[in-house]
Amino acid sequence: MMGIIDENLNNAAPASMDRKTVVVVDDSSTMRSIIQQELEAAGFAVITFIDGLEALSSFHWMHKLPDLITLDIDMPRMDGFVCCEKIRELEDKGLFGTPEARIPVLFVSANDTFENRSRGFHLGVLEFISKPFVRGDIAKAVSRVLLPQSTFAGMTALVIDDNQGVRRMVGTCLHRIGLTIIEAENGRQAYDLVREHSSRLDLAIVDYEMPVMRGDEFIHLARQLPEAELLPMLSISSTEETNAVLRMFRAGATDYLMKPFIAEELLARVQVHLQLRRHVRHLEEMNRNLYDRAVNDALTGLRNKRYFQEAFEEMFARALRIGIDLSCLFFDLDHFKKVNDTCGHGFGDYVLKTVGALLRKNVRCGDLAARFGGEEFVVALPSTNVDSALFVAEKIRAQIEGYRFSDQGQQWAVTASIGVASLHVHRPKTAADLLQLADQALYRAKGNGRNRVEYQRA
Ligand code: GH3
Ligand code: MG
Ligand code: MG
Ligand code: MG
Repeated sequence: MMGIIDENLNNAAPASMDRKTVVVVDDSSTMRSIIQQELEAAGFAVITFIDGLEALSSFHWMHKLPDLITLDIDMPRMDGFVCCEKIRELEDKGLFGTPEARIPVLFVSANDTFENRSRGFHLGVLEFISKPFVRGDIAKAVSRVLLPQSTFAGMTALVIDDNQGVRRMVGTCLHRIGLTIIEAENGRQAYDLVREHSSRLDLAIVDYEMPVMRGDEFIHLARQLPEAELLPMLSISSTEETNAVLRMFRAGATDYLMKPFIAEELLARVQVHLQLRRHVRHLEEMNRNLYDRAVNDALTGLRNKRYFQEAFEEMFARALRIGIDLSCLFFDLDHFKKVNDTCGHGFGDYVLKTVGALLRKNVRCGDLAARFGGEEFVVALPSTNVDSALFVAEKIRAQIEGYRFSDQGQQWAVTASIGVASLHVHRPKTAADLLQLADQALYRAKGNGRNRVEYQRA
């Protein structure tokens, strides 16, 4: 099933300041007291049991679920594996916890073998701490699970595996470092999710063997989406799948992790990728900011002169190529020095901003309005003949004249003079010539008394 993993993953204590409770199951009394002391010193409440059977038979009287269980493996009567299996069964039946909020289990055992790790992995065991362990190891491992860090808060991971247990285990680990988790159970589902969420995904964890669509097929497809081109994709597969590693890397995987793995192995790799991802996102954002500054006018938010000139040349070339018209309006506010002198520069800025907004409101999508300089604005109108351009210019002129410019108790009537030029009327050779014709018309508007629209008849 797809879905966002619940905030309260490990079924932790309610929002009160309750201490987190750890159940410690170990047949050695020495071991129990070492672990208990260490965890209590770290601020956890501890309940100990001498083996799996005692632990299981005690769960029904516990008034709240433990937040975490550490299990020894070799114990008389019932070993750690059977105990963990029984816990998972109880969770599946909803008798002790729920399948959605499994209780985190850590193995603490001297029997650190591949087989044991593998069995533990399939039971959703988060960590495998080998005995003898160094003082502090247990408290650190427990804290990592129970005191989630928000190192990567705001980032999102897509976890793709047909095995729900693996998805949960990976989801739990990633959630601990602050990630939001989205799940998919095959490549096809994952592909749809990538298309839907691509801009906010920061990591994909991809299983190899899955029904409907395998992991390598998914990676290959997803890499062709521009937004997923740089997405870190960490592939996971079992040893039996001999071709998996090569296939995943050929398809475009970023990294590879062999199942079974423990939480720390996964996190160590994930952290490298996320740090890099964060760095790339930061650079992308700086790039966007720089681009913004390079092409926009900070005061009005309109495009700036540099952007206008380049875009206008392209519009001009396109108009010639496909035979459409192109008109240009050149604005200059009247007696603007007087506005500044009388009402102050702040009021002048307010007027410029407001005129910018009026322009933006009056142009169609495909038109281009820009601040050309101090109190000069230009508008390019593709597919627009001179009559329509004159109409637009007159409309904006009238709006500026009718607008009540008022800011912080000051008021001033503002007008603009506008020059219009048109490709099909004036036949200029270059975009710069067309702009210059509009500028010349503007100066005639100034000469003829301001607050008016002019254009040079051909
Ligand atoms: P005219 O009707 O002939 O255009 O008269 P004008 O006073 O508008 O003439 P001019 O073009 O010489 O003056 C433009 C003024 O615009 C000068 C400058 O102080 C002011 N100005 C230019 N940029 C800004 C700005 O960013 N903010 C403010 N407040 N004023 C600006
Ligand atoms: Mg699989
Ligand atoms: Mg002026
Ligand atoms: Mg001027």
